[in-house]
Amino acid sequence: MKIENYPLKRSSYESWETIFQNPAPIDVQTYQTGSVVIDLDGTFNPNHLRSPRISGTVEVPILSHFVTHEKLGNFLLDAGLDKSYYRDPYGGVETPQKEEYIQDKNQDILYQLGDNASELNAVFLSHMHPDHMAGMRDLPKKIPVILGKGELEDYEPDLYGDFLEDVKTVYEMDFTEFESISPFPKCADLLGDGSLWAISTPGHTRGHISFVVNGLAGPKLLTMDVAFIQENISYGVAPSDYTWNVEEAQRSLDMLINFIRLFRGMEVTAGHALP
Ligand SMILES: [Zn+2]
Repeated sequence: MKIENYPLKRSSYESWETIFQNPAPIDVQTYQTGSVVIDLDGTFNPNHLRSPRISGTVEVPILSHFVTHEKLGNFLLDAGLDKSYYRDPYGGVETPQKEEYIQDKNQDILYQLGDNASELNAVFLSHMHPDHMAGMRDLPKKIPVILGKGELEDYEPDLYGDFLEDVKTVYEMDFTEFESISPFPKCADLLGDGSLWAISTPGHTRGHISFVVNGLAGPKLLTMDVAFIQENISYGVAPSDYTWNVEEAQRSLDMLINFIRLFRGMEVTAGHALP
């Protein structure tokens, strides 16, 4: 595996108002590649003052987002699950967390992408957790994978599964090269035409990113795991389970909530919720 620096171009935009006034021919379709049962106590940080303190569990979808750009081609945001979870809830990985994933037949990312799989220009990963990248095992190895700096260093493939095995090139995005467009101190124009943005939202993991898709149908915010479910946004309480740094995770959620309040018409999708 070759690791390179993802080349970022400086955008010509200075505000989200002007970005959203210039939408691009880009659209996003969400695939559910499986599901997982999560604890509500921990989906909301129980130590947060506004924590709803609900207990119990909820089954949530495991997602991958297929992005089509009329001029620049097709991309994937997270890879979801590959087909090995249909017969084995651990996908063949002996993880110490013993996370069980549920998958129906033909729900895996490769099956749902069909012929589009071989035509992907790149896969952007929000972060390196199995439910967001296991699908890479079934995708062509020539497709470059792009992720935030810090993810590779923190990940232990021997423990959690080597999902990027045989991928030819992994590009790291260096957050010091990101630009500041209020209210975000660090964001990046991924394709160089204002159509697809990465927002640095650390906390869930060190190099976690969220996405903004600036399409003709209106802007869409994909929070990824800054919010597991929509209620993280409505309560204003970030998850604490599976979280690298709970305080930073809350700061990133507060920042996204601020953005959502500024742009009321924007479609907002949580990391484990269908749009
Ligand atoms: Zn997740």
